[in-house]
Amino acid sequence: MIRHRGEGYTWEGVDIHPYKETGNHFKSIHRQTLFPGGYDLPVELRYFEMAADGHSTLERHEHAHLVMIIRGSGKVLVGDTVTEISEHDLVHVPPMTWHQFRATNGTELGFLCVVSTERDRPQRPGEPEIEELKANGTVAEFIRY
Ligand code: MN
Repeated sequence: MIRHRGEGYTWEGVDIHPYKETGNHFKSIHRQTLFPGGYDLPVELRYFEMAADGHSTLERHEHAHLVMIIRGSGKVLVGDTVTEISEHDLVHVPPMTWHQFRATNGTELGFLCVVSTERDRPQRPGEPEIEELKANGTVAEFIRY
């Protein structure tokens, strides 16, 4: 068991890391690994939190995500759909589906994310993919890359 610290969205013995090691394709976001995989559960449970105006990387990959919002609100792109998200919504990100989370409402956006321990590297869009995504006006307005 890992105990919640009782203040903020932190847990005892869990370090707070940058979202990713390098890059400028994300903003104001950090990561905590709550469960690294174990027993018969080959999954990681992570908590991500972005500050107001922050966003995750626009990416896709073969592995899926299961995401539960537990703090604040914002919007998410999944495929070609931009959706409002708030606490206790559960977001499915299927394999090879473009996705990006953004804290668009002037509040933090924090979520739990389940992901396979064995997974491929995320792909970022190149120019052709960006052009395809931008064919949808709502998506064009939403994405940061
Ligand atoms: Mn992802």
